[in-house]
Amino acid sequence: MADQAFVTLATNESYARGAMVLGKSLRNHNTTKKLVALVGPHVSEPCQSVLKRIFDEVRVVDVLDSGDTAHLAMMKRPDLGVTFTKLHCWTLTHYSKCVFMDADTLVLSNIDELLEREELSAAPDPGWPDCFNSGVFVFSPSNETYAKLLQHCTEHGSFDGGDQGVLNSFFNTWATADISKHLPFIYNLSSIAIYTYLPAFKQYGGNAKVVHFLGKTKPWSYTFDPKAKQISGSVHEATAHPTFLLDWWTLYSSAVVPLLQEQYGDQPFHSGCVEGESSPFAEALGPQLSSEERKQKWEQGQADYMGMDSFDNIKRKLDTFLK
Ligand code: UDP
Ligand code: MN
Repeated sequence: MADQAFVTLATNESYARGAMVLGKSLRNHNTTKKLVALVGPHVSEPCQSVLKRIFDEVRVVDVLDSGDTAHLAMMKRPDLGVTFTKLHCWTLTHYSKCVFMDADTLVLSNIDELLEREELSAAPDPGWPDCFNSGVFVFSPSNETYAKLLQHCTEHGSFDGGDQGVLNSFFNTWATADISKHLPFIYNLSSIAIYTYLPAFKQYGGNAKVVHFLGKTKPWSYTFDPKAKQISGSVHEATAHPTFLLDWWTLYSSAVVPLLQEQYGDQPFHSGCVEGESSPFAEALGPQLSSEERKQKWEQGQADYMGMDSFDNIKRKLDTFLK
């Protein structure tokens, strides 16, 4: 039987770092499967070199110069650029079965058992649970399926502008046909769902196997002080769960940054790691708010991430809940 693989995608430097952390997390949990990274042509040489040290296969995918149906599809629907790139995973026909994982996911334990599932298996989307979330899904590479997907894409577009819309309208019996294709939520725990149902998170969160930093703010949108183990930045935006965010940054700063440093050599690059920068920020925040004012600000989405609502304070609070 042909090999099985975990596959991810990165079209730029930021997502490439996400892919590196994901790859490292899969290796740390002793996967026996192959690791594949699809990269866009604009991902820099040093980044590609680091990816090659973590992944078994790094494949540059460029739908624009592929000169085939993908190219034609792209000409008709330029708005679906990244989506077409993601669908490329179906062309990995030297593998019998694969699991696609977004570059903003992090593996918390071995998940090789996912490859026992059939196409198309995925977990429900927290925003609309009759749709699956396309951040983690099991698929069987096939040029025939790939061609059909592209055709579907050009004819019907995507109802959400991305791959999730396309995949849900293509695999449109997922919600009702076969419960074994519903992955448990612990294989794609979106960090924002934690806050919408905290008691469920308290009950089941400890079993999480994959966390997904879904949404606008990604782990790399923050900065991290490795010595103080403090995360800061992204004021005014919803935060991911602090413990998982810390897991991501701990792995990134310890296992990925050294590889990046090696590859970049003398060329400047910004790792996102800063030392001792959080306290001057906190001081610059001015007078303390009353708890009512603070609640109001929080509800308006203006959390004080550098101060009262800082990573450490939120973590302390959640830790008391979890105990
Ligand atoms: N992606 C990428 N470059 C982009 C946007 C997305 O490579 O500019 C890839 C990456 O693997 C990412 C996936 O497509 O994880 C889906 O996008 P994202 O995770 O941002 O969507 P969300 O999960 O937040 O809906
Ligand atoms: Mn994602």
